[in-house]
Amino acid sequence: MTSHNDTLFARAQLSTPGGVNSPVRAFRSVGGTPRFITRAEGPYFWDADGKRYIDYIGSWGPAIVGHAHPEVVQAVQDAAARGLSFGAPTEGEIEMAELICKLVPSIEQVRLVSSGTEAAMSALRLARGATGRDMIVKFEGCYHGHADSLLVKAGSGLLTFGNPTSAGVPEDFAKHTLVLDYNDVQKLENAFREMGDRIACVIVEPVAGNMNLLRATPEFLQAMRRLCTQHGAVLIFDEVMSGFRVALGGAQSLYGITPDLTVLGKVIGGGLPVAAFGGRADLMQHLAPLGGVYQAGTLSGNPVTVAAGMATLQLIQAPGFYQRLTAQTAKLAKGLTEAAREAGIAFCADAIGGMFGLYFAKELPVSYATMMECDKTRFNAFFHAMLDDGIYLAPSAFEAGFVSAAHDDTIIDATIQAARRAFAQLKA
Ligand code: PLP
Repeated sequence: MTSHNDTLFARAQLSTPGGVNSPVRAFRSVGGTPRFITRAEGPYFWDADGKRYIDYIGSWGPAIVGHAHPEVVQAVQDAAARGLSFGAPTEGEIEMAELICKLVPSIEQVRLVSSGTEAAMSALRLARGATGRDMIVKFEGCYHGHADSLLVKAGSGLLTFGNPTSAGVPEDFAKHTLVLDYNDVQKLENAFREMGDRIACVIVEPVAGNMNLLRATPEFLQAMRRLCTQHGAVLIFDEVMSGFRVALGGAQSLYGITPDLTVLGKVIGGGLPVAAFGGRADLMQHLAPLGGVYQAGTLSGNPVTVAAGMATLQLIQAPGFYQRLTAQTAKLAKGLTEAAREAGIAFCADAIGGMFGLYFAKELPVSYATMMECDKTRFNAFFHAMLDDGIYLAPSAFEAGFVSAAHDDTIIDATIQAARRAFAQLKA
């Protein structure tokens, strides 16, 4: 019997490159047919064949309160009924800005945009405009959206400038980006010693989620803070993924480090397109219309998307929300690790707040290089066994997973049971 997913995928490929609107959705890394989703509720979504899955991507992070939460849906419906977009300011945008500043104290002022890419790109321009410097530092394996300066990987030499990772990115852009190793304090110190007066900013995922989940060491982030301050560079924490995900105050609250600028997205839109960048008021004042750094957006601060974001940000402030989310995610990581051990499979898992990583490796990876040593073939087999069993994990060995407040004990237990069966298959 042909699956509706197969039919839709074949059709999608005729009108859309690769059949998808964002590459990871195409299942290229794991093989097979992507599932076309028809609806979602709580911890579940359903595909075009009517098959139900426990969802562990949560729209890649935003669905922290579970899919289609009634309060979020109601807020969206109410806002939509009042008008979809005005292109003029609203009180809702002030409320959202005030709430973000309250929940993330390093943010004194914030600007709303529509995607994480746009937010990171704007934060870079702001850092460059405010410092009058061109060079940026990023880390291998961190993703900050697809702005030209950020689609860059390390060059061949120790401190050579980067090479584009995408066709269409001019070498001339990449040459302003220095790509260093995550968690390598020495390389960071060397870079600042050699060219500290040319560095506009350092941008980092303080908890990396785009090379699977990788924790920054406190020393790494502390060194970054110290060096940026010493050399007049702007420290940008990209918390598009970790913000409101690893803790209410983001990774910066867990590490106790204050960045100059923070980039947010995902959770703050609750599933609709909202992102933001914000930080020190003196830096933010460089933005148009006050300063010379241009940045704008037709749909920035859109009333409907802001309503979804605000409803989500209200829900996550409930007492005990992050304790429960953290406990459920830790329970999942522990249960999966035990199930693998019972089956004699080299596997570990890690969790921070509502975010987790699965690694087909004997030990937890501590760097991009050790992450790349994880057994991708085994992950792919595990992914498909779980998918067949109704558990939807991220379709790549190098993506993090997400748990929502709707993932209760029954859901986590069912997932661990499925993993037992999947690990047994891997062994066979
Ligand atoms: N920064 C980080 C840390 C991300 O994880 C992502 C997306 O996954 C982005 C930026 C880009 O956000 P968007 O996909 O909304 O453009």
